[in-house]
Amino acid sequence: MKLRFYILVLTGSLLTACNMSQQKQMENNSDSTGASNRYYSRSDTGKITVSNQEWDKILSKEVYNIARGKGTEMAFSGKFNDHKEVGTYYCAVCGNPLFNSNGKFESNCGWPSFFEPINKGSIIYAPDNSHGMQRTEVMCGRCNSHLGHVFEDGPPPTGLRYCINSVVLDFAKASKAAKSYADSVGKK
Ligand SMILES: [Zn+2]
Repeated sequence: MKLRFYILVLTGSLLTACNMSQQKQMENNSDSTGASNRYYSRSDTGKITVSNQEWDKILSKEVYNIARGKGTEMAFSGKFNDHKEVGTYYCAVCGNPLFNSNGKFESNCGWPSFFEPINKGSIIYAPDNSHGMQRTEVMCGRCNSHLGHVFEDGPPPTGLRYCINSVVLDFAKASKAAKSYADSVGKK
């Protein structure tokens, strides 16, 4: 009888420990990619070099195809195309902050569009001559993942249009204080 009691206690504590570690892992990886992604960080700005082979194991197929396979989501299909909340857009692959909602505008092109990145280093550029077009590819400055393209038909002050796939973006709402500040600035 005593032995049985000990077994029950032991099993119970093992289960608790298991649940706790699972919960901790979820907190560390609160990204849209779902699977455990140890490279994901919204505060670490250090560049990371990870092979496509490894990304393939970490990312969802949808994210992998665009971020690593340089694919494009269908126009008007993305969750952030019509998104108007105040906050920050992050790289869905690595968590790097990419755009502020106040740099977003309605381009009606079918993809979320921004006229400026959150800072110069957040994005890197490369010429893209695929599909018979001369375009400039836009990649995440931290993990080199493909995000979309930048065109020179955007609104002032930059005249640029960063045309970005929703799939490779994560979004976090601004805190209440920051939101009311943004609203008051917008009204002036
Ligand atoms: Zn990234």
